[in-house]
Amino acid sequence: MSSHNEQHSAVNASEQAKHQARKAKKKAVVDERIAKATEERGVLILMKGNGKGKSSSAFGTMARALGHDQKAGVIQFIKGRRHTGEFLFFKDHPQVDFHVMGHGFTWETQDKSKDIEAAQAAWKQAEILLNDPSYNILIFDEMSYMFKYEYLDIEPVVTALKNRPAHQNVIITGRTMHRDLQDIADTISVIQDEKHAFRQGVKAQIGIEW
Ligand code: ATP
Ligand code: MG
Repeated sequence: MSSHNEQHSAVNASEQAKHQARKAKKKAVVDERIAKATEERGVLILMKGNGKGKSSSAFGTMARALGHDQKAGVIQFIKGRRHTGEFLFFKDHPQVDFHVMGHGFTWETQDKSKDIEAAQAAWKQAEILLNDPSYNILIFDEMSYMFKYEYLDIEPVVTALKNRPAHQNVIITGRTMHRDLQDIADTISVIQDEKHAFRQGVKAQIGIEW
């Protein structure tokens, strides 16, 4: 064996030792964090930002919960399209209670009082779910617009979220989030818009967009 090779493997051994030491240090930090995270309770998750993936993340999480036999509630505070894939897929699931906001609200609508009425009816339904401990996870999809357009007051929503059953998880989606919701949230993720097919002229697609 040449001395060159011996030198080479000696370097490798010392690098390996350094690498292992770094890993051990990192593991200790992670272990300490895991040991500290002992609280068991439901969380409020906000999915915001201009990129694509907020609602699909929420429904993905709901599918995860359903896999564990949990019970879910959905209120879609949406514009336009009623028969989304998520609605068609989950509406008949025995563990899902799915509500889509009434016709009042579309991007084209001019009748603000009808919009407010529809938003308030949807909120009433949301409140029922927030008071029912049998629900493990709730999704308030596109709810953030209700505050932006002043169709709903923020205070009763914050109060109901704070007073919900301790184990209940809630996910709220929408491009922009009210400050007060951000203040009480446990987890906030921002979906950034780096590229979107739409801007390259690709038409909205069934199964991808809705
Ligand atoms: P998804 O439901 O696909 O997870 P999202 O909830 O993050 O999307 P929304 O603001 O609810 O986004 O918009 C829903 C629709 O708008 C989807 O059809 C989505 O592909 C499209 N969309 C989302 N972000 C953009 C964007 N930056 N430019 C163009 N269209 C977008
Ligand atoms: Mg969405």
